[in-house]
Amino acid sequence: MGCAEIIALSEVRASKQWEVLRHQLHARFDQWLDALEQQWPEPPSTLPEVIATVWNARQQLTGSLTEAIVAHVHRGEHDRAQIHCPRCERVVRAQAFVCRTVETLVGPVQFERPYFYCRVCRAGTYPLDEVLGVSTGRMQWDVQQAAVDLATEVPYETASTLFGRLTGIPVSSERMHTFTHQVAEGLSVVEVAPSREEIDRRVGQVAAGRLRRPVLVLGIDGAYVPSRPESARGRRPGQARHRARRARWRHEWREAKGFRFYLLDGERIIHLLSWHQVQTEEQLGEALQQVKDAGLIPDESVRLCVVCDGAEWIWKHVRALFPHACQVLDYYHCAEYLHKVAKAQYGQTVQALEWVEATLTRLYMGKMGTVLGGLRRMQPTSDEARKAIDNCWVYLNGHRGRTAYGRLRRGGYPLGSGGMESANKFICHVRLKRSGAWWYEANSNQMLALRCAKYNGTFDQVFTRHQHQKADA
Ligand SMILES: [Zn+2]
Repeated sequence: MGCAEIIALSEVRASKQWEVLRHQLHARFDQWLDALEQQWPEPPSTLPEVIATVWNARQQLTGSLTEAIVAHVHRGEHDRAQIHCPRCERVVRAQAFVCRTVETLVGPVQFERPYFYCRVCRAGTYPLDEVLGVSTGRMQWDVQQAAVDLATEVPYETASTLFGRLTGIPVSSERMHTFTHQVAEGLSVVEVAPSREEIDRRVGQVAAGRLRRPVLVLGIDGAYVPSRPESARGRRPGQARHRARRARWRHEWREAKGFRFYLLDGERIIHLLSWHQVQTEEQLGEALQQVKDAGLIPDESVRLCVVCDGAEWIWKHVRALFPHACQVLDYYHCAEYLHKVAKAQYGQTVQALEWVEATLTRLYMGKMGTVLGGLRRMQPTSDEARKAIDNCWVYLNGHRGRTAYGRLRRGGYPLGSGGMESANKFICHVRLKRSGAWWYEANSNQMLALRCAKYNGTFDQVFTRHQHQKADA
């Protein structure tokens, strides 16, 4: 006998198992066809009709197949007559079979399993549920994850409608909100951050074939998000009628402070890590500290560079945490100051435009001394002009070490914080700024944390964390 003819016993078993399962799956398929035939005595004719028929019945089939596989694979659990009580180790006998139906993306799945109850501990258990890894509610993890995935992109109402249409599973906007809340609860920056290995991988991709280490940019900035005060929560007796007409609370715009680490690959941005929250300056500093302490910044393999506008609190954190980083004052913020000077000094004239252009060019070439000297020599034409000139001088002079734009350009450093501004848009604004949406701080921060996870590529990881937490509880 040749080697090829020697079949391991386990393989024989496996092929027999598959044979049995095949028969069961075929039986399920036949059942599904029977149901279809009853609904449609004659097969539908046009493509849209055929599609609609199969679409509407698809989950009966896929759910049923799933049931057959689960029943087959876990028939041992199904037939189990006794277990050791997980608390007191006593032998406990099966009480009764209990049927359970859960909602999954492949359709409703039903399974029957024995229930065990320990009279001493007064605790009941379904061992199969644990083996299967089903979630406690009716909607299973796959449904929950897909719902949260959608709800972090579009308003809850829209998410609910779209979800029902695309999956055939009705999930109310309130449930969407609950799932989102559960997944996001207590997330910290380190939990939504990619691993150091993943960061190293991305750095390695950009570094490949280059002589100089890649530039790793840290941008820090704030974005205003619509919020409502905590006092708007809860029902106040007798006011419902009034509340319906006009809110008793005043909305406010609060600053979501955030940071983004990203790599520059020529003109392209390779995203690494974002974190945005409605938070204080101190909390932002703590989050940055956590990123640093977790060893997520590959100091040796990159040239770290921080690009920001002039806000002093930002530079305070940068100096404390990344003292060796190259500091860049956002070029476009400088431009705004110069425009203000020109407008106040020359009004809406060609001269104003010419002055801004010439000054910006000097700035771009890194000739800050010339720019400052020019501002000093300017004869203000009004009080307003004097104020604008002084402001501009103080601003630029205060950041002199951060404006060597000529040298920075040659070094491949960015001049502007565009990468950070776009993060403000795609993480904060697109989801939080919706007409009529005013967010409680906690809710907006949870939404922001999940959106950061998405862009950081850690959404699945965050969901797995949530599953484990639920399982432990
Ligand atoms: Zn017990």
